[in-house]
Amino acid sequence: MEPVLNYINGSFVPARSGRTLDNINPATGEHITSIPRSDIHDVNDAVAAANAARAKWASTSIEERATWLQQIAKALESKAETVASLESMDTGKPIGLARRVDAARSVSNFRFFSDHSTELEDQTFVSNNAVNHVQRSPVGCVGLITPWNLPLYLLSWKVAPALLMGNTIVAKPSELTPLTANLLAEVFDELGLPPGVFNLVHGLGPEVGQPMVEHSEVQAVSFTGGTATGKVVAATAAPMFKKLSLELGGKNATIVLEDAPLHSIVDDLVRASFTNAGQVCLCGSRILVHESIKTEFTEAFVRGVEALNVGPPHLEETDMGSLISLDHLSKVESYIRLGVEEGGTVLTGGLRSNAPVDGTPANGAFLRPTVIDGLSTNARCATEEIFGPVVTLHTFSSDDEAIAMANSTEYGLAGSIWTADVERGKRMAEQVESGIVWINTWLNRDLRTPFGGMKQSGVGREGGDWSLNFFSELTNICVQQP
Ligand code: NAD
Repeated sequence: MEPVLNYINGSFVPARSGRTLDNINPATGEHITSIPRSDIHDVNDAVAAANAARAKWASTSIEERATWLQQIAKALESKAETVASLESMDTGKPIGLARRVDAARSVSNFRFFSDHSTELEDQTFVSNNAVNHVQRSPVGCVGLITPWNLPLYLLSWKVAPALLMGNTIVAKPSELTPLTANLLAEVFDELGLPPGVFNLVHGLGPEVGQPMVEHSEVQAVSFTGGTATGKVVAATAAPMFKKLSLELGGKNATIVLEDAPLHSIVDDLVRASFTNAGQVCLCGSRILVHESIKTEFTEAFVRGVEALNVGPPHLEETDMGSLISLDHLSKVESYIRLGVEEGGTVLTGGLRSNAPVDGTPANGAFLRPTVIDGLSTNARCATEEIFGPVVTLHTFSSDDEAIAMANSTEYGLAGSIWTADVERGKRMAEQVESGIVWINTWLNRDLRTPFGGMKQSGVGREGGDWSLNFFSELTNICVQQP
């Protein structure tokens, strides 16, 4: 594959330093291509281009920009198979999943925000003999920083509302998954989006992301990634009073009540645990089961997990591909070892040597889905984000205990409750400290709703109006009436 380049001011260019990084296929260990190892100089070029393009882009009407979003959606839709295969190659995820989730959602993100713009209403408030008009204007040049697990899905989730609201962009995708961000730049180039409106800088977090956040002419930063990195981003941006959106890690609880119809939900629970090899921030990595159904649940769940087909990502029948890298695999394995040291029992899966995955390349980052039982809810393995195919099982005896266990980590991103009694589920959901609680479903997303985390899972909300508000400055113009 041709080397990937930065996209700055409407041109594909290498890093000024000429340095590159290798891009590796994690399922085979093979070299895919190289990407620019950019630094502050490339960031400065991209920010200068974004700022030069600001006034003109901001002067276009929202209807014009919504039409751009429709054109982008259409172009991405026509390339959906390429998006899916690039994403699968870059991340090791199964091609079927990349089609259903990554390629499809990237299109619908642009289409959704375009359609949603028609629902934006002028806001006017009358009181004290005055009329207040709320005016919306672009924030300016915005920095978008994204992780590797859902590369184009998450990048387009930020790019679409940022463009719609009239901002110009400097984007930095994960250095591990640059391919579909590059494809997006190619789409913009083919469609003739004005130079400087969208700029893409590849490279490492401290060398590209950090100078982006530090740059005085980047007015807002939307960051999705790990909590530890989020703290660095927040500490950098806060003294500069930038608008900041932080979508961070999670340690989500899946609560299974004693009245849940086990046999009809077990496939959903397996999916909620192991989609994308557990590398979705919303995956339920702690399963809390009512003690009265623990034995029955464990048997059915482990059977479902063992039925997952772990294999090469390009095969249609693969349910779970590789992890993102050998380094990440080692980290996940260190948590499994820790779980055993902390007193847990591995019911299925485990370390590579204990659980070889037949038919996968020797250099691939494959691991069988792993279930650990018998840990206390405050064990490190049960409270720290592993972000891999590992779940821990715990029991509770009352609704209050389940809620206390769900809330016992520093995270607060998502959770799910499974029950035949929806009212009971809703009562419990109101007490779970997380941004989303699903009842009898998982990853069921209406893009108009708020998305984001509490506690160490982030600050702010994305989705629908929340995204539009983040990417806008709101001014109140108050006019005294005669
Ligand atoms: P990460 O924090 O390592 O990296 C995320 C991005 O930040 C990358 O592009 C990286 O290069 C960049 N970065 C690194 N250091 C930086 C710095 N000092 N300044 C600016 N940018 C910097 O995360 P990851 O390993 O790529 O992704 C996995 C994490 O993302 C998990 O914790 C997962 O829960 C989280 N995540 C959260 C959500 C959500 O919506 N809450 C969604 C997906 C993933």
